[in-house]
Amino acid sequence: MRWLGPALIAAAAAALIVMERRRPLRRATEPRNRRDLRNLAIAAVAGVTVHLLEQRVVEPLAARAAERRWGLLNRLALPRWARAALGFALMDYTLYFWHILTHKVPLLWRFHRVHHLDRDLSATTALHFHFGELALSVPWRAFQVLLTGVTPAELRLWQQATLVSILFHHSNWGLSRGLDRALTRFVVTPRLHGIHHSMASAHTSSNWSSGLTLWDRLHGTYRGDVPQRAITIGAPDDRRRRPRPLDEALVLPFRARR
Ligand SMILES: [Zn+2]
Repeated sequence: MRWLGPALIAAAAAALIVMERRRPLRRATEPRNRRDLRNLAIAAVAGVTVHLLEQRVVEPLAARAAERRWGLLNRLALPRWARAALGFALMDYTLYFWHILTHKVPLLWRFHRVHHLDRDLSATTALHFHFGELALSVPWRAFQVLLTGVTPAELRLWQQATLVSILFHHSNWGLSRGLDRALTRFVVTPRLHGIHHSMASAHTSSNWSSGLTLWDRLHGTYRGDVPQRAITIGAPDDRRRRPRPLDEALVLPFRARR
């Protein structure tokens, strides 16, 4: 059943692309095809990085943790379902802190900033991460695995669910008010994550979660009061009008700031 996760992710991505066209949340500033192509090119480099680094380091580490009974989950005698739920929540919670670090630590921001340079948000923005950010996240992912003690299967399930969540909340799908309100009780929606992608730093410093809204509520970083029409999507420290071409986006973190 290894194919099931990727098949569900592909189906979710296709459904989101249809919904963004049918019910857009924000008006696009750049021609869609050009943006999607650039985002997918950045995603291809990111995918190779994940394949070469994360999968080769983190998956074997999860197997070793299960074997040696390392990590919090292995200290608790929990039924299987409770263990899986707690593992999922802990991975999501620790990812919340990683996202904050990518904004607050200057070296990490150089790379995460590339993700925020997209001047529109859509499902393809979910894949628009600089390969350097993904490489730098490997030690954090290793820390998450060692702390929690998730098994390789639990890790894979969390990664796949998180990818669907990230595709969803970066999408430009304008949910109805009622559905948005119901979902934001539990998970991050496109409207909430749009606030995080605002050029105004007061907005950016909110809605850090990649899955459950619980973490933002718990730490007072939840923000749902900014209408989308009041938001300009982009990085707070990027005042350039034109979107950056692919090669520039890739070399940007290695250059002196401009
Ligand atoms: Zn961010």
